[in-house]
Amino acid sequence: MGKTVFITGASRGIGAAAARLFYENGYNVVINYNNSVEKAKALADSLPGALLMQGDVSKEEDVKRMVFAATEHFGKIDVLINNAGISYVNLLTDTTLEEWEKLFRVNVTGTFLMTKYAAENMISNHSGKIINISSIWGISGASLESGYSATKGAVIAFTKALAKELGPSGITVNCVAPGFIDTDMNSDVTPEDTKAFCEDTPLGRIGTPDEVSKALLFLASEGADFITGQIIGVDGGVII
Ligand code: NAP
Repeated sequence: MGKTVFITGASRGIGAAAARLFYENGYNVVINYNNSVEKAKALADSLPGALLMQGDVSKEEDVKRMVFAATEHFGKIDVLINNAGISYVNLLTDTTLEEWEKLFRVNVTGTFLMTKYAAENMISNHSGKIINISSIWGISGASLESGYSATKGAVIAFTKALAKELGPSGITVNCVAPGFIDTDMNSDVTPEDTKAFCEDTPLGRIGTPDEVSKALLFLASEGADFITGQIIGVDGGVII
């Protein structure tokens, strides 16, 4: 039986592209979604044998149920991709406590919970690869996205700490920090702002979900066996 990848937030965007790419490369794929049931089902229907799992990564009971079911179904989880995420664009002074807490619950607590429960099995197997999704904004900070930037900075610190803690257990922990990627998350960005961003990007364009997925596939592969604790930018050179 091939290796198993559990991808959170795989109903749309980067997660859905990663699910397709890992599937095409022989992985057993666990597709997690929260609200986008139609999109998730359509994706799962196009990938026969993939396991569809509804669940909110910020809820401990959901995470426990999903990790248990995926492990029962495929025997083990070899690769965990903590991709599920949300963003808000607003002034700090307009940001509500509820928005702030929701950002942290999904982007940080969700990553913590999924990793905590998936790592138990990886530690017993003395192998595993955990890949977190941060953002360029977790490194450089985005105006009007202070909460989002703070969560993505937290994901980077979590990656580094966990790489040290889990290395002796044969587990690598890395992070991908995408730049501006063409997904629903950026659907409100104006053409003018997109153009300005491209002008500040050495490669002169925005990226695609497939381009992020290829970096994820590499970090999950044997070729990345001696890489841990790293933050890999997939950003067209915005941060150099
Ligand atoms: P997207 O198109 O908005 O998709 C977000 C995905 O996350 C959806 O599948 C959504 O599932 C899922 N999700 C949200 N809350 C969830 C929860 N509580 N539990 C489970 N799943 C949940 O976003 P994207 O652009 O692909 O972003 C994917 C990741 O890349 C995020 O972590 C994002 O912060 C990061 N990123 C994106 C960019 C970019 O430019 N797009 C740049 C840097 C980093 P449902 O729809 O089913 O609820």
